Amino acid sequence: MIGVQFIRFVNSVSGADAQQITSRPAGVEAFLPISALVALKSWIANGVFDQIHPAGLMIFLAAISLSILWKRVFCSWICPFGTLSEGLALWGQKLLGRNFSLPRWPDYFLRSLKYFILAFFIFFIFVLMDGAAAYAFLQTPYNIIADVKMLNFFKNISGIGISVIIGLIILSILIRNFWCRYLCPYGALLGLFSMLSPWKVRRNPTSCISCTKCSIACPNQIRVDKALNVWSPECSGCLNCVEECPVSDTLKFDLPKPSFSLNQKTLSLGIIIFWIVFIGVAKLSGHWENGISIELYKKLIPLAEQLNHF
Ligand code: SF4
Ligand code: SF4
Repeated sequence: MIGVQFIRFVNSVSGADAQQITSRPAGVEAFLPISALVALKSWIANGVFDQIHPAGLMIFLAAISLSILWKRVFCSWICPFGTLSEGLALWGQKLLGRNFSLPRWPDYFLRSLKYFILAFFIFFIFVLMDGAAAYAFLQTPYNIIADVKMLNFFKNISGIGISVIIGLIILSILIRNFWCRYLCPYGALLGLFSMLSPWKVRRNPTSCISCTKCSIACPNQIRVDKALNVWSPECSGCLNCVEECPVSDTLKFDLPKPSFSLNQKTLSLGIIIFWIVFIGVAKLSGHWENGISIELYKKLIPLAEQLNHF
């Protein structure tokens, strides 16, 4: 919905009938995680909250806060790429009767890829870039219309781009959560923050009957039946394992003490409330809509293809 509204906005700004400007959905900035990372650096270094893509930084902070609270629930309950990935895997199951998984060592190796990609961005933005450079980047015309450039990338997609997307679709049909498991640096970052979460999937070994239903249900191939508490940064808080456990009070998504367990219904309700409150506060406090004028958009959008980041 945000994508469609954003296309309408760009068309209304750049089209012949520029009198009827459609409003720009600020949520489109969720698709600019690198800009959000630079904005975070600038905020920490300069104490100035980004006014070019404030919604991008707020969504980034909301995702991190959610991870610290309830594991990587952003990935399993909110992220549209996660939803797409799950849908493709289900399709693969129907088509081929099963999804495949890689042998242990290639799996370990490939799982480290997303951390390498994350380390590259963290090193580049938090080590090589100083506060002044981060602030200067945020003000560049390139960053101002980074969302438009992203749209143009998909509108005028190259042969290489199409091949990569088709390759990812095929791999996601064959291997469950291929993108999330091996390549997504955003998920890698949230996974690291999620290790701080006090809520974890906790197994009671006394009542557990070792049926392995929890491990079979886990989309991230975690051996829940062998763990007492699931610490893994791969856990996306989907609670499929908890729902599948046949023995009551044996597997819970719980605090260490005092017990306050959540099931899929209460967790999803909590996530919705958290998200609405976080975004609502961002809107009411002026950290959502950017201050870019329509005149500047009109000037920059036709130049989008010529704008580079420096
Ligand atoms: S099934 Fe359980 S262990 Fe696996 S990702 Fe979901 S919540 Fe985490
Ligand atoms: S599903 Fe429940 S009973 Fe079965 S192995 Fe997992 S925790 Fe134990």
